[in-house]
Amino acid sequence: MEKREQLYAGKAKSVFTTDDPNLLILHFRDDTSAFDGEKMEQLARKGRVNNQFNAFIMEKLAAAGVPTHFERLLNQDEVLVKRLTMIPVECVVRNFAAGSLVRRLGVEEGKELDPPTFEFFLKNDALHDPMVNEYHIRAFGWASDSEVAQMKAYSFKVNEVLRQLFGAAGMLLVDFKLEFGLFQGEVVLGDEFSPDGCRLWDADTRKKLDKDRFRQGLGGVVEAYEEVAARLGVTID
Ligand code: ADP
Ligand code: UDP
Repeated sequence: MEKREQLYAGKAKSVFTTDDPNLLILHFRDDTSAFDGEKMEQLARKGRVNNQFNAFIMEKLAAAGVPTHFERLLNQDEVLVKRLTMIPVECVVRNFAAGSLVRRLGVEEGKELDPPTFEFFLKNDALHDPMVNEYHIRAFGWASDSEVAQMKAYSFKVNEVLRQLFGAAGMLLVDFKLEFGLFQGEVVLGDEFSPDGCRLWDADTRKKLDKDRFRQGLGGVVEAYEEVAARLGVTID
């Protein structure tokens, strides 16, 4: 499958059309951003690590009954996916308090959330991805009620599957962000699942193994992502 036109260059991935109108190619770049694009760096190997790690996770999720856009890996840093009409909200599930939840509510980082929580954020860098709720989504027509219900149900299913998967490899899945879109009228998981969009801590030491290493200037960012992959048995070319 050949790349045709570049449709979009995001902060971490570039999106290309193909000869098939239903399929796109995502190119995972080494660009790494935080704080809505204010901090930007190139981290060698990050694109290929996230591309191949994401493929492994998407296949696990599909096997567990979550429909995903993943079709097949094309090479080290490119993947073929279904072309979705993206729903412009981010779905965040949290098992432990961290990040914006800690800043917003003043709770202690690392407090376990039982049951896990769910939040929607509008995907809009200029507005710093503000939190929104189901009423906003309905009023502004970003998704229908049944699509909202489906995104929530799939997000909790993803949490169930991945908490177990990371747990068995000695890691805590602290929180994560998902993006969904529509394909032939159905809600489908799009974008990526990688340490760029989730928080993972070593279960014993609570060492951070995700993008917080970049946000907080801790160093060893891609090394940590590769450690996560290795613990799950994912080999990166
Ligand atoms: P951002 O837009 O946040 O800077 P990326 O650099 O990851 O993020 O860019 C990838 C873009 O592609 C995102 O806007 C994402 O919503 C979109 N996208 C991801 N998967 C699909 C898909 N299957 N079909 C259409 N668009 C997609
Ligand atoms: N997240 C993301 N993209 C965003 C915002 C958040 O991938 O634009 C992820 C983030 O990596 C974390 C989870 O969603 O795993 C929850 O993020 P939070 O709301 O705590 O925001 P942050 O601390 O990243 O500002």
